Amino acid sequence: MSGFNIWNTEITYLKKVGPMRAQALAEECGIRTYGDLLNYFPRKYIDKSNVVRVRDIRADMAYVTLVGRITHFEYVGPGHGKGRLSAEFTDDSGTMELLWFKGIRWIRESVKEGQEIIIFGQPKIFGRKVQIVHPEIDAKGESGDTVNSLKIIPYYSSTEKLKAKGLDAKGMRQIVYHLLEVGAQDMREVLPSSLMSQYGLISRKEALHNIHFPASFDLLTAATNRLKFEELFFFQMMVAKRREIDQPKRRSAPFEVVGAYFNRFYAEFLPFELTEAQKRVIKEVRRDLARPIQMNRLVQGDVGSGKTMVAFMAMLIALDNGFQCALMAPTEILAEQHFRNFQQYAAQLGIKVALLTGSVKKSDRKQLLFELEEGIIDILVGTHALIEDPVRFKNLGLSIIDEQHKFGVIQRMRLWQKGRVFPHNMLMTATPIPRTLAMTLYGDVDVSVIDELPPGRTPVKTAVRAEAQRKEVFGFIQREIDQGRQAYIVYPLVEESEKLDYLAVTEGYEAVQRYFKNVQVGIVHGRMKPEDKEFEMQRFKRNETQIMVATTVIEVGVDVPNATIMVIENSEKFGLSQLHQLRGRVGRGAKQSYCILMVGGKNPSEDAKTRLRAMAETTDGFKIAEIDLKLRGPGDFTGTRQSGMPEFKLANLAEDVHWVVAAREAATKIMETDPGLERVEHQAMKAHLMEYIKAQNLLVGVA
Ligand code: ADP
Ligand code: MG
Repeated sequence: MSGFNIWNTEITYLKKVGPMRAQALAEECGIRTYGDLLNYFPRKYIDKSNVVRVRDIRADMAYVTLVGRITHFEYVGPGHGKGRLSAEFTDDSGTMELLWFKGIRWIRESVKEGQEIIIFGQPKIFGRKVQIVHPEIDAKGESGDTVNSLKIIPYYSSTEKLKAKGLDAKGMRQIVYHLLEVGAQDMREVLPSSLMSQYGLISRKEALHNIHFPASFDLLTAATNRLKFEELFFFQMMVAKRREIDQPKRRSAPFEVVGAYFNRFYAEFLPFELTEAQKRVIKEVRRDLARPIQMNRLVQGDVGSGKTMVAFMAMLIALDNGFQCALMAPTEILAEQHFRNFQQYAAQLGIKVALLTGSVKKSDRKQLLFELEEGIIDILVGTHALIEDPVRFKNLGLSIIDEQHKFGVIQRMRLWQKGRVFPHNMLMTATPIPRTLAMTLYGDVDVSVIDELPPGRTPVKTAVRAEAQRKEVFGFIQREIDQGRQAYIVYPLVEESEKLDYLAVTEGYEAVQRYFKNVQVGIVHGRMKPEDKEFEMQRFKRNETQIMVATTVIEVGVDVPNATIMVIENSEKFGLSQLHQLRGRVGRGAKQSYCILMVGGKNPSEDAKTRLRAMAETTDGFKIAEIDLKLRGPGDFTGTRQSGMPEFKLANLAEDVHWVVAAREAATKIMETDPGLERVEHQAMKAHLMEYIKAQNLLVGVA
């Protein structure tokens, strides 16, 4: 049978399927082969094992199973398929009504009066009358049809089109049942037995049978766990394999020396003592950079944890080895802030820093590009203009992307990989990606975590306030300003309309100006010219304005330590990670800071309430990210949809932390001990992995 794989058989050949149903299955559910159907797991399960009697049906029973007979049928209504079919059903305890509006002819043909049947459905009670509309009917004791004697009933998603072809919940059940019969001999184990015993997993065959037709709820759990592990494990194996194949191809220059730039800066110019976490991450980066293999490191650190300094010190190592560096930031405001900081740090070291954004004038840009290619510029900071322009370096050695999540996908950085050797890569993100997601999503990236804030920070106090409390809120802001502090007031992005957005923020601006008569108020929003935005930001930084009215353009990275209040208008409209980012704009100095979440709408949704509650309860970015992941689901998180991560059928990254960790651990261990997957006990797994990789279509040229 070599080469033949039953699971590749077209679904049309399965008993009770045929061309018409096959077409519907393909169109409606993407089921084309036996294998596709095997992996089409039930949407839910219903326990049918408890047979009740008509007399015992209560209003709080969601589903009931009864055994009895139909005493007579009655057709009610106008005829020509417009009426309904009513039947009197009886067991030894009482009688009830069964009702059909559709499929009437089929019922009349397949169920005989007086025949013993099992019915199953949702009961409705009207006074003393009990009724079930469209019950499922199984003829009791019908030989050979084991599907009907099941205790736990699987429910498959069906659609109108499938139902029209007889593939309703029951029809789907039947074809899956046939499939498991014909395929029973071909469910070979793909996990090494050592793994199965280590993680307490049942066999593949048992799992597949029980996920479709569970013999008990315990076995259903065991089956689900086994299959969750399997899908996470093969994903991790693919990532590990890709990394192994990629690595030798990704040659980068080793930065062997840590020289004068780094050492002088560290000894003489460091503006503050580094935190232990910063030191640790710098060490990790240094180790990576010393190798001739490209670094791909994600530095995660909550807002304000001091990622910029880590980036700068990594750059100094590159400069010590004669290479140039680039740093890309998501907004002009942020790029300019980095530029200024680096210039300040670099001043005494004789390092040339340049800034490239969309608003650099043409003549200046020409000069800049020339100096870059000549190697006169050491560090180039900018927005995505860095990758859009025909930017050529003399010898780029390190590229850093700040606020990586804003750019969506890691693949972005590959745009820089056009030289002879690849520059080392560092990605920084302040949206802490939950550990599970990072492990799956960035399986081929090393992760460093700055899990400590610089000393002297006081946690931000957060409060939720309604419109009715605005006077108090404004009064509070006034008192803070009187003590020399500053405040942000942020308006939401109205997705549908940039115009509305603009209206909200300008109206807000006017209202704020009216209220705070003796206070200077600035404004920034997306419609302003970059130089105007920058002008306003600089005024705020110098405390020439005390209140900054803004849209979310200030969301990332902006650093004004004297600002102690962050008011977020219509906070119910913001996503959780965005709220957290905005809050991160304050609490940057030693003074107590406040985040005030104004609720504009009358009835915020449950999700919105959860978000606001989470904000009030914790300032821990990782906790916030976990909650965010639960609310939004992993697909929506940090652009994973475009990142080449498959959607897992069973595993839920927010909830199955245990299995994600186990799968990663197992895959890592196997790749360490048997990188070529040559051992006998790994052969079945290897074959399955190659199929999996092919199907994922992510890895080219491996199989
Ligand atoms: P983020 O990680 O959000 O990018 P930044 O790098 O902007 O944070 O740092 C936030 C603020 O903390 C900046 O003002 C920075 O100068 C300061 N900072 C960074 N590291 C330290 C440290 N070790 N001690 C004191 N202040 C620090
Ligand atoms: Mg930053």
